[in-house]
Amino acid sequence: MGLVTSTKYLLHARDNKYAICAFNIHNLETLKAVTSTSFESNSPVILQATPGTVRFAGADYLVAMAKTAADKYNIPIVMHLDHGEDYNMVLECLRAGFTSIMIDGSKHPYTENISIVKKVVELSHALGVPVEAELGTIGGVEDDLSIMGDGVYTNPEVAFDFIEKTGVDSLAVAIGTCHGLYKKKPQLDYVRLAEIRKLVSIPLVLHGASDLLDESVKKCIELGISKVNIATELKIAFSAAVQTVYYEKPAENDPRKLFTPAIDAMKAVVKNKINLVGSADKVTRISH
Ligand SMILES: [Zn+2]
Repeated sequence: MGLVTSTKYLLHARDNKYAICAFNIHNLETLKAVTSTSFESNSPVILQATPGTVRFAGADYLVAMAKTAADKYNIPIVMHLDHGEDYNMVLECLRAGFTSIMIDGSKHPYTENISIVKKVVELSHALGVPVEAELGTIGGVEDDLSIMGDGVYTNPEVAFDFIEKTGVDSLAVAIGTCHGLYKKKPQLDYVRLAEIRKLVSIPLVLHGASDLLDESVKKCIELGISKVNIATELKIAFSAAVQTVYYEKPAENDPRKLFTPAIDAMKAVVKNKINLVGSADKVTRISH
């Protein structure tokens, strides 16, 4: 069916109180793990790549692989740029055929964040591609982006103003989640999330959802999160499986023997997350 944009699917998720996972992929093996499991679960899925991954794998290769999976499995697959850092990176991904863009201007002062996002929204919307932005800062390390401390939480009134001024399609909120693994127990600000949901209507995105308790993710979805980003847990499952092969057979030199168990380990995580966010069996319920 070719790649799709995320708009219709995130709105359906918002209206029906479930979420769609956005899984960070890096190469053919991780892309196959995510898309084959989404197919088996009959779930729409968002594949996402950070600028680091775009530089590593190539925007054109990523789109070609994602398209192949979409045609093969006939489920809605979105190719999304995660934490797009500047206009040129967005342009490169749009040219290659990405169907969803995140521009992250959250490290800039508010008015600058607005003008960066607005420019990307104008460009992307001209091509029919939706845009995610971030307000507040989500702590931790993602790709080359490192935020010290706990970050700054998203203010609901400012979120409303930001969406009005930028025309963005979805918003990543900072409510106490963190990229990577949690060093201390996360304190999620559910009241803040509920207030944001009350004030704004566009789909809300939870970053840093790896390593959160299942009940925390579920509560966030109940309170209005429609897209849940998963990166770190996938990487851990994949690399731990590769390490196990090396540990058991130090002389192993066949990539297929290394990566097949890694794909299987990642598939198990993907399946769990799809069940957790409630997107399984949603493909046939949305008219294409
Ligand atoms: Zn993120």
